[in-house]
Amino acid sequence: MRVKIDAGGMTYLPLCDCGWRGLPSTSRGGALSDARHHERRAHPGDLQAAKALAEHRRRAGHS
Ligand SMILES: [Zn+2]
Repeated sequence: MRVKIDAGGMTYLPLCDCGWRGLPSTSRGGALSDARHHERRAHPGDLQAAKALAEHRRRAGHS
């Protein structure tokens, strides 16, 4: 599976290629966190969203 964040205007919407879509978030980190929750629930063993979230947090400078 693959998740992506659709950034439009003021919000970030997490989308998965399985058809799932999360709730719009006001931050990329929030959308990535939502995507990671979905990944854990729906795609156990996948780490794409986990890695994206970790990378985002590293770049943002907070844990
Ligand atoms: Zn999915």
